[in-house]
Amino acid sequence: SQIVEGDELRKKLHNTILELKGNIRVFCRVRPLLRFEGDSNGPEGASISFPTSVESTGRSIDLINQGQKLSFSYDKVFDHGASQEDVFVEISQLVQSALDGYKVCIFAYGQTGSGKTYTMMGKPGNDQKGIIPRSLEQIFKTSRFLESQGWNYSMQASMLEIYNETIRDLLAPGRSNSFESSKQCTIKHDPHGNIVSDLTIIDVFGIADVTSLLEKASQSRSVGKTQMNEQSSRSHFVFTLKISGSNENTGQNVQGVLNLIDLAGSERLAKSGSTGDRLKETQSINKSLSALSDVIFAIAKGDDHVPFRNSKLTYLLQPCLGGDSKALMFVNISPEASSVGETICSLRFASRVNACEIGIPRRHT
Ligand code: ADP
Repeated sequence: SQIVEGDELRKKLHNTILELKGNIRVFCRVRPLLRFEGDSNGPEGASISFPTSVESTGRSIDLINQGQKLSFSYDKVFDHGASQEDVFVEISQLVQSALDGYKVCIFAYGQTGSGKTYTMMGKPGNDQKGIIPRSLEQIFKTSRFLESQGWNYSMQASMLEIYNETIRDLLAPGRSNSFESSKQCTIKHDPHGNIVSDLTIIDVFGIADVTSLLEKASQSRSVGKTQMNEQSSRSHFVFTLKISGSNENTGQNVQGVLNLIDLAGSERLAKSGSTGDRLKETQSINKSLSALSDVIFAIAKGDDHVPFRNSKLTYLLQPCLGGDSKALMFVNISPEASSVGETICSLRFASRVNACEIGIPRRHT
């Protein structure tokens, strides 16, 4: 019977690992060329092609740069023809799991102008809505349905941005339009590892509540100017929805979290021609993006020490990375030939992340 027990245990462990395997997934999305941009086969001789171009979704992407072909594959690749709906279909399951008590993080990573904000927030109009509004619609719709099965949910939203390693509350009452006078926040962890902060947290009961909060937040968001994009976002934007559910029939309780994160542009210094304030911004963006990848790699390797404290972003997300968490990173890329250097950096970064697994129990030898 000992053998049976051992086998059972192994099977259970194996199943747990299977369940948790691939808890960080990577989707790559290539935006279309914009009207004012040239051909993707530009003077530098760079082009992007899709081995599976018949379908708008596939798993690989080929990039030809100066006659050299680089191939990458991810959990999914969306080409320029993929609609907002095509993208959402692939993540709706993940979003849904926040209602089951999972801690979900969805990131958009990429250089400025690569389509991060379009992917996360989208544009006005039903077809153009991005992941944030679609996720919230789905969460509220599903929670209503689950009410008929005895579930009761309460939800709370918060929105913040991290700019130059300072956290700013985007929903603070009476927040001034002047960036300097906007409310700064501090975060700490309590002994249970939960985040304690002086951030404004607002109860939300339906999509209309969240829509008006998103409007307030986007007005408050600070945007800077670089040579690359007039409206480039130099801050990380973090939308958090906390979900508490209880079932009056079964007595079950769940605490889920949905974090939707539009990261600041990942471009390197030389290209954005940064000096002064812009230089400082770029340095702090690079610092926090590399802190994020260090955290992902440390968790994946099972390191004893995961350097969550190296940036505000990772410290904030610590309770949602690892354990019962699920993470997805969109790597947004531009088809422009002139962006090929940044595109290769983003694709390489994405490949390294794609090889990672979050939340896997440590292997004991
Ligand atoms: P980022 O947030 O990475 O700086 P944006 O999301 O602002 O980039 O995208 C840059 C421009 O490209 C915007 O005008 C946006 O509307 C457009 N764009 C990005 N992705 C798409 C897409 N998939 N389809 C159509 N337009 C897009």
